[in-house]
Amino acid sequence: MPDTTAPALPGFLRGGPKRLFIDGRHLAAASGKTFETINPATGQVLAQVAQAGAEDIDLAVRAARRAFEGPWSRWSPLDRQHAMLRLADLVERHYDELAMLDTLDLGAPIARTTLGRKRGAALLRYYAGLATSTHGETITSSFMPRDSLTYTLKEPVGVVGAINPWNGPIGMAIWKLCPVLATGCTVVLKPAEQAPLSPLRLAELCMEAGIPEGVVNVVTGLGDAGAALAEHPGVDKIAFTGSTEVGQKIVRASAGNLKRLSMELGGKSANIVFADANLDLAVAGAAMAVYTNSGQICSAGTRLFVQRAIHDEFVERVAAFARGIRVGDPLDPETQMGPLVSAEQMQRVCGYLDIGKSQGARAIAGGARLTDGALANGYFVPPTLFVDVRDDMRIAREEIFGPVAAVLPFDTLEEAVARGNDSEYGLGGGVWTRDLNNAHRVAKGLRTGTVWVNCYQVLDPAVPFGGFKASGFGRESGNEHVHEYLETKAVMVKFDQ
Ligand code: NAP
Ligand code: MG
Repeated sequence: MPDTTAPALPGFLRGGPKRLFIDGRHLAAASGKTFETINPATGQVLAQVAQAGAEDIDLAVRAARRAFEGPWSRWSPLDRQHAMLRLADLVERHYDELAMLDTLDLGAPIARTTLGRKRGAALLRYYAGLATSTHGETITSSFMPRDSLTYTLKEPVGVVGAINPWNGPIGMAIWKLCPVLATGCTVVLKPAEQAPLSPLRLAELCMEAGIPEGVVNVVTGLGDAGAALAEHPGVDKIAFTGSTEVGQKIVRASAGNLKRLSMELGGKSANIVFADANLDLAVAGAAMAVYTNSGQICSAGTRLFVQRAIHDEFVERVAAFARGIRVGDPLDPETQMGPLVSAEQMQRVCGYLDIGKSQGARAIAGGARLTDGALANGYFVPPTLFVDVRDDMRIAREEIFGPVAAVLPFDTLEEAVARGNDSEYGLGGGVWTRDLNNAHRVAKGLRTGTVWVNCYQVLDPAVPFGGFKASGFGRESGNEHVHEYLETKAVMVKFDQ
């Protein structure tokens, strides 16, 4: 691939290894170690990044504690709201740079990463509203005399450890900061090792917005840094987004001081297309439910259930759509799909392509790594559509986290819902139909945190997102989200008799 990255490198990437951001300062790791982050479109090293160990995590947790008990605790909800609104403006203003960092680090097409501007700013503004509108309540107690007052206070839970995956670096980082800032908590954020750059830049913007030192700390590193955070006794809550497997480790590691937990984990979502659907919408909808972000989305609609009456026509149209997706250089504004995030992820996805074929499935679009010309050095896998899939095949059961869809024909609604629910996961789900009864029956029937009807992957700051079953617990977004960052204190006051 031609080296298109050189002239476009943001200033943030110049000038030596990227350092940890602790207590408002850029610090090297105590061990002096760094790791490489790679541009997956070229396979070239993008930057050296400080590799935090337990000592650095401890430093960051202590800074977060001091800020929590010190200056930040004296900020009123309105002060925090104003800071969040300033941060929203800064994020909006600097989004071209943030999007570029993600395009280089993750390989997501620039046309897609720049779209995050609206959501990033909207998240901060929505939660800025919650900063001043979230409060306790008064309760008429039946067990206190009439001369009394009973009420609840909502108090921030304390120091939050936020651990993120790589598939949406800046968007996920903002999402994690929102409830922290709205409630008066403080945070140590551990981004994924594959895409740590934009979260570090976000920490600088927090300073510029006037948020006190120590409130937002970003500590880059590998899994052991996340593990140190999960078991640190000075952390009150862990907010984790990532795989179910690591989620289970965090649950175990957090038991020592009974940390509060929220877990946004993996998925294998069912997308159900009825014969009466608007097929023009459903073809693109079904394809992009899987292929967006190269399939690296937890709620991707990877099990595509198609009603038998339209099966052959629909599948052919989705395959044609998949073949038409422009895969290539993420910096090209025309590109619709970039590479996978890393060589490891590409090998994992290609492994599933082999498993699918060996179990009898047939790829009618994609099916093998792209190695032509300019793509050879990057980690490119094309949109892949498997037919002749059975529900018990591994490609129909396991999360692949790549651009791979498995088509599963069905006859009746009851059957589609039952098979849709036959999964350890319960994150997202979709239904495409013009029949309101079908739509609402499927919406009620699926055991998932979200059901999209005649649309897919829509996220809204006001709408809760999260999983049933092994997809986790807790919800991000929506006004309930902040309550996961608040303790409720009951106060019962008996007046002088
Ligand atoms: P991952 O391997 O679970 O890693 C997630 C984060 O946990 C990374 O920062 C990772 O650090 C860290 N980590 C690794 N081992 C740890 C440990 N023992 N203790 C604490 N932290 C540890 O997930 P990923 O590969 O980055 O992302 C893909 C997964 O995330 C998929 O399963 C996907 O479904 C899920 N996901 C879920 C959602 C959702 O909202 N439900 C959204 C996006 C992604 P390193 O990067 O250094 O390993
Ligand atoms: Mg990278």
